[in-house]
Amino acid sequence: MAYRGNKRATRTLAILVVLTGIAACSRSVSRPSEVYHQVRPGETLYRIGKAYGVSVKELAALNRLSDPSRLEVGQRLRIPHARRELPVSVITPREASARRSDKARGAAGDPKLAWPVLGGTVTSGFGQRGRSFHDGIDITAPAGTPVHAAQDGEVIYSDALRGYGNVIIVRHSGGFVTVYAHNRSNQAREQQRVRQGEVIGSVGESGRTSGANLHFEVRQDNIAHDPLDYLPPPQQIAAPARAGGHGSFATAQEGANRR
Ligand SMILES: [Zn+2]
Repeated sequence: MAYRGNKRATRTLAILVVLTGIAACSRSVSRPSEVYHQVRPGETLYRIGKAYGVSVKELAALNRLSDPSRLEVGQRLRIPHARRELPVSVITPREASARRSDKARGAAGDPKLAWPVLGGTVTSGFGQRGRSFHDGIDITAPAGTPVHAAQDGEVIYSDALRGYGNVIIVRHSGGFVTVYAHNRSNQAREQQRVRQGEVIGSVGESGRTSGANLHFEVRQDNIAHDPLDYLPPPQQIAAPARAGGHGSFATAQEGANRR
């Protein structure tokens, strides 16, 4: 199961795109060029380091920062070992949570999301898990099952991330972002506009997971929320189970998704 055991550690690892990655085959064999990261509001050296898998110390030294606690928005930082610039604020959420009880389900102004996988089974819910926190839900479905955009939006990331495997991140209005991880393949490009229901990838088991499932997150302003608060009435949540162990729960979401 994707993040059950130790989500925090996973996230720490989650981030860095390996330079020599498999995904690089389509790009020619040039040496990895120098990657710069432009600091955006809310980012700290800690979060940037976490995203790229580089220590604060190394970043500070490399960029000759005398005071690592002071970063200017717009400042460009040299990032070692990176293959590309990453959406740091998106992949290192400021905070994971907003408990269900804090929030009325389907509050006014909330986006109405559609299930990203039709006929899948929610095998793991959002929330605290031991000492770690599961930032999304896991929807188990056979490998190759289409993954659909949950809402209209723009693809802001489509690539591999360690831990997440092939992941797509879509930005929606209202500061919302949805995340689709462990894909067998990503079928939407960055900057592509997608419509709700559009196929953007397929279910797989890339990244850290022990079976084919979609790890699906909903964030608003980079705070993770329970996706079930935004989806049409629930697919039944099984007790935490091993990914790939298909439950026998009825999951009739097809209708809900074909609006
Ligand atoms: Zn998960």
